[in-house]
Amino acid sequence: MTTNAQLFETAQNLMPGGVNSPVRAFGSVGGTPVAMISGQGPYLTDTEGKEYVDLVGSWGPALLGHKHPEVTEAVRKAVDAGLGFGTSHPSEARLAELVRDRVPGAEMIRMVSTGTEATMTAVRLARGATGKNLVVKFAGCYHGHSDGLLAAAGSGVATLGLPGSAGVTEAQASETIVLEYNDRSGLETVFNEHGENIAAVITEATPANMGVVPPEPGFNQLIRDLTSKYGAKMIFDEVMTGFRITEAGYWGASGRQEGWTPDLFTFGKVIGGGLPTAAVAGSREVMEHLAPTGPVYHAGTLPGNPVAMAAGVATLEAATAEVYEHIDSKAEVVAEALTAALNDAGVEHSIQKVGSLFSVAFGTSATGVHNYTEAQSQESFRYGPFFHAMLDAGVYLPPSVFEAWFLSAAHDDAAVDRILQALPAAARAAAEA
Ligand code: PMP
Repeated sequence: MTTNAQLFETAQNLMPGGVNSPVRAFGSVGGTPVAMISGQGPYLTDTEGKEYVDLVGSWGPALLGHKHPEVTEAVRKAVDAGLGFGTSHPSEARLAELVRDRVPGAEMIRMVSTGTEATMTAVRLARGATGKNLVVKFAGCYHGHSDGLLAAAGSGVATLGLPGSAGVTEAQASETIVLEYNDRSGLETVFNEHGENIAAVITEATPANMGVVPPEPGFNQLIRDLTSKYGAKMIFDEVMTGFRITEAGYWGASGRQEGWTPDLFTFGKVIGGGLPTAAVAGSREVMEHLAPTGPVYHAGTLPGNPVAMAAGVATLEAATAEVYEHIDSKAEVVAEALTAALNDAGVEHSIQKVGSLFSVAFGTSATGVHNYTEAQSQESFRYGPFFHAMLDAGVYLPPSVFEAWFLSAAHDDAAVDRILQALPAAARAAAEA
């Protein structure tokens, strides 16, 4: 048997930090990353044969749990037909249709391979369609790792405590205006001062990369109003939330229930069902600026790959209302048990939650976290001991306090019970930190 420690030692010699994405490292929680070798339903098994209840869900795609029979079967069939042709084929239109039918405002879709590519393309599209340069983003929101969007980013950039990234030119950074999330007057001021030059405001439909931070009522609406008034595009990054949380994805964001839609959406994670697919979507008018109908260039070898499309189609077709009800209710149970365990252990905290996506922030007042400054000032040192107590008890949490917890349709009572049983000791470990 190869141990996690042996694998990590080998990996560290071959890959920077021993990982292919910094969010997988145990940088902020300490210890050796666990190498998983298989997944089934709500469980993962590591290289040492230990089983965990998985609350990372492949960072979002595993809405239905691991190795869902219909998704696996669809992928097998697609593989049997050939891995990819570099041509049009039927299942890419089927996935586009599923997105269009479920998301008001997503009239046309362009498949890409990663969320990073989706947001990068959406920003280029917004600039190309408006002829303007500036992009407004919010601190703590993560939109992938393209140059202009790394300023004050969440996710791994937040975990590592970085202001942005080396290698991003000043010119790139200077075209991104960063605002505090939920800052209505800041947004109004920026539009007053720079409105004529703003191509886009990009925002997570509900931020979940600085922990979960719900938009205050009317905040997304204000973004919509200001972008419309000044002729800028509103980009709703739903890479994390799309087809996962009922408030901000599949059923329409609260904004869409109020009768508005963004100009552009980005999707990823769930729409690829675990394989590398993401998408840009939006109104026909904006999307037709993309090549070959328009002058804004995007291309690729793998976008719309038939195996990835098969996984996405099977996932969205299986993602029924019952699936979302199940995930929402299990998330409620886990979040309630988490807060009860932390209260019993005397740990001040807030549960940050929108629909089934939630995270915990330590040492925050009962009013919770509303922006990146508040997220960063929490007692994040409590998360490492909490995380490791859960890991020891066989629960795999995201290895950073800034990441959301993901449940799936496969998290049944048995899996949820294991989480609940592990919480009291982990809460005591957080208290003693
Ligand atoms: N946008 C959001 C909101 C995300 O959460 C992520 C990834 N966590 C991305 C974009 C980037 O997606 P990818 O990792 O597929 O490049």
